[in-house]
Amino acid sequence: MNIIMLGAPGAGKGTFSAFLEEKYNIPHIATGYIFRENIKNNTDLGQKAKSYMDQGLLVPDELVVSLVADRLAADDCKKGFILDGFPRTLVQAEALKETLEKAGAVIDYAINIEAPDQFIVDRMAGRRVCKGCGASYHLVNVPPKKEGICDVCGGELIQREDDAPETVAKRLEVYHSETQPLIDYYEKEKVLKSVDGTIGRDNVFKVLSEMVGDA
Ligand code: ADP
Ligand code: ZN
Repeated sequence: MNIIMLGAPGAGKGTFSAFLEEKYNIPHIATGYIFRENIKNNTDLGQKAKSYMDQGLLVPDELVVSLVADRLAADDCKKGFILDGFPRTLVQAEALKETLEKAGAVIDYAINIEAPDQFIVDRMAGRRVCKGCGASYHLVNVPPKKEGICDVCGGELIQREDDAPETVAKRLEVYHSETQPLIDYYEKEKVLKSVDGTIGRDNVFKVLSEMVGDA
């Protein structure tokens, strides 16, 4: 099963992708996470991506398209995948379509997590991520068992640089101009499914389970 997750930054794509990964046992591929790992390891790609990310801008299409194509060619993607944070532009969507066509594959579901801007702004202010494993928390909605410490790996929880309020505003602006058009795009492709992202995590899990079924 091939799934892509759409939605504004902070709408919950990461949390819901992790849920689907576990439920369907297919890899969760998050481009933002891959970039952050590359920055941490100071790779060439990381150095190129960092200045864009810190400003709340998209990393150029050519850097992300080849990265995703390579990742999707790996063996573990044969039984399916969940793409989180890609595609984010029409150019990326077209490139993905081409990559999949070559492999005789299609997108089964484009899941759009709907959330108003104010909801996103409030949520990002409380978001904390683990420095060690990338797990995501929220000070109010999804607090860790022990303050400042990751439940999964014991790592330190920090606020992402791009979650600073000015950067969040920029990211939302970029989302509306560059990524929102993909909702129409996947509607036309007849794979779009939308879910209200504001109804609480467990309720969204339930809706997603019904949406995707037992496939
Ligand atoms: P969020 O969904 O919360 O915005 P991500 O972790 O998905 O966060 O992305 C963080 C940043 O990484 C983005 O703001 C952007 O700079 C970069 N990025 C991630 N995926 C892409 C992509 N598909 N195209 C361009 N830039 C990307
Ligand atoms: Zn952790």
